[in-house]
Amino acid sequence: MLYLVPTPIGNLEDITMRALNVLRDVDLIACEDTRTSSKLLNHYNITTPKTSYHDHNERQKTPQLIQKMKAGSDIALISDAGSPAISDPGFYLVRACREADIDVIALPGPTALIPAITQSGLPANRFTFEGFLPVKKGRQKRLGELKDESRTMIFYESPHRIVKTLQQFEEVFGAERPAAVARELTKAFEETQVAPLGELRKIFEAQNKVRGELVIVVEGGKKSQK
Ligand code: SAM
Repeated sequence: MLYLVPTPIGNLEDITMRALNVLRDVDLIACEDTRTSSKLLNHYNITTPKTSYHDHNERQKTPQLIQKMKAGSDIALISDAGSPAISDPGFYLVRACREADIDVIALPGPTALIPAITQSGLPANRFTFEGFLPVKKGRQKRLGELKDESRTMIFYESPHRIVKTLQQFEEVFGAERPAAVARELTKAFEETQVAPLGELRKIFEAQNKVRGELVIVVEGGKKSQK
């Protein structure tokens, strides 16, 4: 069986007891980066064997993992932070398990998109998670598709692209569109700025260098507010 185990996005205490038990009990933990995950596993004295599983080896590694599970092993997949398969490796392995009739259990747990939207004060009853926008090819097309989106939109973004992205959002959705940027969720310098896109863009433009991890939340067009 394959377990998808969410891991903390900053604060090491954000892990469930069930996640810790699964990580202790499985035969193997497939980690996006074994060194990164060692910090968490050492913190909780988990000594389960590890193997690496990331975007660059998933095609080659998947058949080996499938074979192990077919032979009776239980495997847990963890990424560097948050939920596997959410802007992280996992989808390919899960699909392979489904095709091979291997059970998959995803544990609930940390992911950046949920606290970003729920603490923003923007409508959370319906939303679309867009992950990272394409960096070059396909970016304008995707933004064009979202122009008339009525649900709240959630984006992951890197600090060095935040200003450019907010500029583009302002062009597509307008300067007055309510939005929020959540930075360093669950960490010591966590902060959430809630303001119209034009103001948010100015706030981040005024910063010398933006640091940390970021989630952008943008309210949908008119229909979602009814
Ligand atoms: N699997 C993760 C999840 O479930 O949220 C996402 C991994 S993705 C490679 C990394 C992106 O998630 C970051 O660039 C940022 O947009 C967002 N992120 C992860 N941790 C965060 C945090 N502590 N605060 C704000 N955003 C975070």
